Amino acid sequence: MAEGVRKILYNHSVRSEEVAGVGIGSPGPLSRKTGRIQAMPNVPGMENFPLRDRVAEELNFPATLENDANAAAYGEFLAGAGRGCRDMVMLTLGTGVGSGIVHDGEIIHGVHEMGGELGHMIVRPGGRQCGCGQRGCLEQYASARNLAWYGEQRIRAESPDSVLRGCLDRRGNIEARDVHEAYLAGDAFAREIWLELCEHLAYGCINICRTFDPDRIVLAGGLTQAGDDLLQPTLEAFREQHWKISEVCTEITVANLGNDAGPIGAAGVAWRQYFQEHPEYVPRIQI
Ligand SMILES: [Zn+2]
Repeated sequence: MAEGVRKILYNHSVRSEEVAGVGIGSPGPLSRKTGRIQAMPNVPGMENFPLRDRVAEELNFPATLENDANAAAYGEFLAGAGRGCRDMVMLTLGTGVGSGIVHDGEIIHGVHEMGGELGHMIVRPGGRQCGCGQRGCLEQYASARNLAWYGEQRIRAESPDSVLRGCLDRRGNIEARDVHEAYLAGDAFAREIWLELCEHLAYGCINICRTFDPDRIVLAGGLTQAGDDLLQPTLEAFREQHWKISEVCTEITVANLGNDAGPIGAAGVAWRQYFQEHPEYVPRIQI
């Protein structure tokens, strides 16, 4: 990581005196207060690793550590689909459902640093078992991986008349993309599970509105490549299930920074920290 930072500085002719800090966005769980990674399920040997301080020592710059989903949300808030919002919530629909909440320009972490985990809000009591130990988490209904996984389970158990059956027989698995394509081709089973995903995503969005009432909910991640095919049915279910005691005020939209959101947001966190510590400093660029 430090080597990567040095290369960036060199390639852009930035002197180290010009660097206010380095922002790290990392998978967790982690503690931003201590700057330590608690564990990385996919990277062995990272248990209790002091990532923030090691990077800071290596580079001799101050460093900040933020959860990757929060960093991506903050990036969209600063420079992407959340620009101009005061309050914004992002849901990243990928392998799981990552999320970040920005309230009044600040990322919400919670007292125990476990806040903002919207992928684990329960949208169906007693529903599908989640790896976190709860049942019926949004992640089990609205992530790309779970759409494909539960699609496969149902095909095996019920043998529906669906092109996805052929997909599964040929390749041994199906992907979210296959479900999307079959849905577009008018496949009834694909339509059922696709709309089920949109419906649960809409429940999640309504719960977010009732809790935070944000300007905007930004959807990101692989599933959003489906664009309006994801957004329109979600919006329809959202408007239908939304309470009627006030109009729908929160917008739901798709992220626009792609993979750049994380680095931009992580840098934004370092930037913000610098200004909090140096209120006298007048930046050349306003964010
Ligand atoms: Zn869960």
